[in-house]
Amino acid sequence: MQKESKLNAENRQKTSGRGSNKVPIGSADFLAPESLEKALDYRKRYGFEATVIAGGTDIMVDYFERLYEVNSWLDLNKIEELKKIEINDEEIIIGATATHKRIAEHPDLQKYLPMLAHASSEVGAWQIQSRGTIGGNIVTSSPAGDTLAPLLAYDAKVVLQSKGGNRILDMSDFFIGPKENVEESDELLTKIIIPKPSENILSRWKKVGKRKALIISSLTMAILIEIDNDGVIENARACYGAVAPTPIEVKNVGDYLKNQKLKEVDAKKVGEIAVAGISPIDDIRGTEQYRRQVTHDLTVNAIKEMAEEI
Ligand SMILES: Cc1cc2nc3c(=O)[nH]c(=O)nc-3n(C[C@H](O)[C@H](O)[C@H](O)COP(=O)(O)OP(=O)(O)OC[C@H]3O[C@@H](n4cnc5c(N)ncnc54)[C@H](O)[C@@H]3O)c2cc1C
Repeated sequence: MQKESKLNAENRQKTSGRGSNKVPIGSADFLAPESLEKALDYRKRYGFEATVIAGGTDIMVDYFERLYEVNSWLDLNKIEELKKIEINDEEIIIGATATHKRIAEHPDLQKYLPMLAHASSEVGAWQIQSRGTIGGNIVTSSPAGDTLAPLLAYDAKVVLQSKGGNRILDMSDFFIGPKENVEESDELLTKIIIPKPSENILSRWKKVGKRKALIISSLTMAILIEIDNDGVIENARACYGAVAPTPIEVKNVGDYLKNQKLKEVDAKKVGEIAVAGISPIDDIRGTEQYRRQVTHDLTVNAIKEMAEEI
């Protein structure tokens, strides 16, 4: 790869990777383009050889002991276009490098996407929220990522952009396993597109962790219910994180709820359907049994609370 000769000097700085034979101190390329077009040029040329960095709150932890392995960084922070949050009559479009702090504090997102704003307000603590981005949360693709269940519940789509064009995917098609996704080496995640929710939406987001702050979730839940003027459920999506290899929607919950009067729903039955749709494992943040019980209880409570709200 002929990096040296082709790169735009203005967009290059040097970073101090730890000493190693592979990439000597100070020799990793630091690419910090100011335009998306330039970033996509770099992405095409370097592929996964250049490590993309947004807020750095995941990637710097991953590489903490092995910064020397990074040959090149592709920093997205100077690209204003990727930070935008736009709302029109039909859609809410969130740029991939919008930080959790901006999302949590954005009045329109609090209004239209309260589960997402709430989830962002509970990522780590304020230092992490100030740096960490929604795109980083998605591309890390941890089943426990806090914004992922809300985004699934809101039926979000992700835009993967490359020099060759755009791919727009349902969030559920983006994740393929724990920390694995379908992003190609020449692509960047540029936007998240969410259909603007109607007025008649009820929702509940819950995060369960071993302590209040700075904790990876043991489980997350995002339930969204759309009702008509008579309180009949037109649409429902129940989504969970950290209960399967990827964040998931339990579609059977939505199917069961559809066309029922919310006030007459058997909440316990909904909890049972939710539990039947997950496949949790034992790990340091909770046992399989614990996750099944919590999924059940959170779901039952959410349905009851929403029924009382109307
Ligand atoms: C102390 C601490 C507490 C935390 N607490 C939580 C928590 O409570 N909940 C939670 O969900 N997470 C938590 N995290 C994880 C992290 O903060 C979030 O996942 C955050 O959203 C990551 O965003 P970032 O911009 O920092 O990602 P980065 O670290 O910059 O990038 C993450 C990954 O995504 C890739 N990437 C980033 N942006 C793009 C893009 N636009 N296109 C393509 N690839 C891209 C990077 O190459 C990297 O692989 C915590 C982290 C720390 C260190």
